[in-house]
Amino acid sequence: MNINIPSAPMGLIHRLNGAGYEAYVVGGCVRDAIMGRTPSDWDICTGAMPQQVIDLFSDYSVAKTGLQHGTVMVIEDGVGYEITTFRTDGAYSDHRHPDRVEFVSDLREDLARRDFTINAMAYHPERGLVDCFGGREDLAAGLVRCVGDPDQRFQEDGLRLLRALRFAARFGFQVETETGAAIHRNRSLLDSIAVERIFTELKGFLVGQGVAPLLREYRDLIAQVLPELAPMFDFEQHNPHHCWDVWEHTVRAVEAVEPEIALRLTMLFHDSGKPDCFSLDENGVGHFYRHGHRSEELAAQMLTRLRCDNRLRKQVLLQVRTHDQPLPQTEAAGRRFLNRMGEEGALRSLAVHRADMQAQAPETWPEKQALLDNAENILRDLLAKQACFGIRDLAINGNDLLTLGYRSGPALGKELNRLLEQVLDGTLANCREALLKQGEKDLVTQERS
Ligand code: ATP
Ligand code: MG
Repeated sequence: MNINIPSAPMGLIHRLNGAGYEAYVVGGCVRDAIMGRTPSDWDICTGAMPQQVIDLFSDYSVAKTGLQHGTVMVIEDGVGYEITTFRTDGAYSDHRHPDRVEFVSDLREDLARRDFTINAMAYHPERGLVDCFGGREDLAAGLVRCVGDPDQRFQEDGLRLLRALRFAARFGFQVETETGAAIHRNRSLLDSIAVERIFTELKGFLVGQGVAPLLREYRDLIAQVLPELAPMFDFEQHNPHHCWDVWEHTVRAVEAVEPEIALRLTMLFHDSGKPDCFSLDENGVGHFYRHGHRSEELAAQMLTRLRCDNRLRKQVLLQVRTHDQPLPQTEAAGRRFLNRMGEEGALRSLAVHRADMQAQAPETWPEKQALLDNAENILRDLLAKQACFGIRDLAINGNDLLTLGYRSGPALGKELNRLLEQVLDGTLANCREALLKQGEKDLVTQERS
C-alpha cells in the first residue's frame, strides 16, 4: 500500500519525526487515498503533546481553537493542517461530548476511539499503513462498521448514527449487519444531539450517491429526526399516475434528482403533505388536493427545527410549493414563470418535475416528458435570448420616466410594472424606443382621467 502524500503534509510529518515524535496522516485522507479519491484535507496525528507541536512550528502561523481536543492547526500556503495529539476519549455521560480527552502515547489507542473501521487507519511514508481494525478489508467490501462494540460506540456519541449513514451514502456502501442493528436500536440517542450537527450530517447523507436504499432501510432513523415524514411510509396512492406508495415514490424522486442539497431536500419533502390531503373519489381513485401547500407547511416546520439557513430554506420551500404546478408551455407563460421563479428557481423546477416524473408510473412518462421538453426548450431559449423577466431587465428605468414628466413616488413603480406586464405578455418589445413611447402614451391617458 503506497499513498502519495502531498509535499506540505509530508514536510510537517518529517519535521515532527526529526524532532523525535511519531507522526502519521490519519482518518478520512487515508480512506480516500486508498479509494483513489482526492482527500479534501490531510489530518495528522502525533505522539507530540500540543505544546510541543506549537513550539516545533513556532515559525508557522498556527490556530489554537481545537487545543482542548489536542488539535493544533498549522497553516501553510493558506491551507490549514490539523495536527492532533494521540488521544482517547473519556466517558461520554451526555452521549455527545467526552467528559475529558486523555493524551496517550500509543497510536493504536488513538485509532480505537475513531468511529468506523474505514476511518481508523493511519499511514506513514516509510512505515506504511497502520490498520488495526480491518479498515482496508471493509473498504474493499464496501462496509461501514463501527470500531468496537457498536451499541457502546453509538451511546458515546449519538451523532455517529447519522455519520454511519452519511459515509454509506457517499460511497454507496452497506452498513455492516451488527452496526446496522445497533443503529435501529439506538435511534432515540439522536434526540439529545444538537440540531446543527444533525442537519450537517443529514445534508451530507442526502447528497450521497447511495442514499436511496438507506432511506428505505433506515426510515425509522429519518423519522426520529423528521417525524413529519412518517405518515408517508406505506401510504398507498390509489392513483393511475403512481405505482408506488408515497414513501417509495419519495425515495425514488430523491435518487432521481441531481445531488444538489436544495433539490434533494425538495424531493424529500415534496409529497410530505399528501397523507393529510388524501381523498378517495366515487371511482376509488385517490386525490391529494392542495398537497403542495401542505407539504410546504411541513417542510417549513422541519427546516425551522433544523435551523436551516434562510437561503436554502427559501429555495426549498419555493420548489416544494410549486412542484405540482404545470410548467410553462408558451413563451409568454415562460416569461411569467421566469419572473416568478427567477432563473435559478426555474431551472431547479425543471429538475424537480423530471425527478418527480421518473418516480411515477412509467406508462405515464411519455406525455409528461413531452411537456417537460417543451418547457425546457422555451425556458432555455428565453434565457439564451436574455429576455426580460423583471423590472430590473427593462430597457428603461425610473429616471427615464421622470424625464418623460412622471412625478417621483409610487407612480413610477406602478408604471414600470405596467410596462413589464406588457413585455411579459409579448405585446410590447423590451426596447427603449417602444417603452418610452408607451410610457408617454400612458402619461397622457393618466393626466386625462
Ligand atoms: P470527510 O471527508 O467528510 O471530512 P472524515 O473522515 O475526514 O470525512 P471528519 O468528520 O473530518 O471525517 O473527521 C475526521 C476523522 O475523525 C474521521 O475520519 C474519524 O476518524 C474521526 N472522527 C470524526 N468524528 C468522529 C466521531 N463523532 N466519533 C469518532 N470519530 C470521529
Ligand atoms: Mg475530514
